[in-house]
Amino acid sequence: MSETVIVSACLLGINCRYDGANSLDESLIEQIKDSHVVQVCPEQLGGLPTPRVAAEICDGDGFDVLSGRARVVNIEAADVSEQFVKGAKEVLKIAGLVGAKKAYLKEKSPSCGVNLIKCGNLEKSGSGVLAALLSKEGIELFAS
Ligand code: SF4
Repeated sequence: MSETVIVSACLLGINCRYDGANSLDESLIEQIKDSHVVQVCPEQLGGLPTPRVAAEICDGDGFDVLSGRARVVNIEAADVSEQFVKGAKEVLKIAGLVGAKKAYLKEKSPSCGVNLIKCGNLEKSGSGVLAALLSKEGIELFAS
């Protein structure tokens, strides 16, 4: 039986990015072609529109957002932490419902980044909010 995996929807060509575009990764699609794929966009699941104002985490990373020590702030200075945490929790719920133990996530996103996120034009080490929550729950993460 094929395993069930969670995948950032933008990597599969879904136009769910903040700018209404996608981040199609054809090599990833080849890599997971035998898996049962469940595509998610945590920012949409958190209630944000598409397109939406770009957001970033500058005072920490996703783990810090989950514990209330940092915020996700968009470039219009609005705090969107609540929507990001809500979306991450919805994805965790989905992962539990479908029995997914692995997730392939878009690097450098404030939600999906596994090893890297961004602050302004700078990349920095750290996890996005979704990656942090899934990691805390023992789901194996792969950056794409
Ligand atoms: Fe949605 Fe994550 Fe892709 Fe951003 S990186 S568009 S939150 S799936």
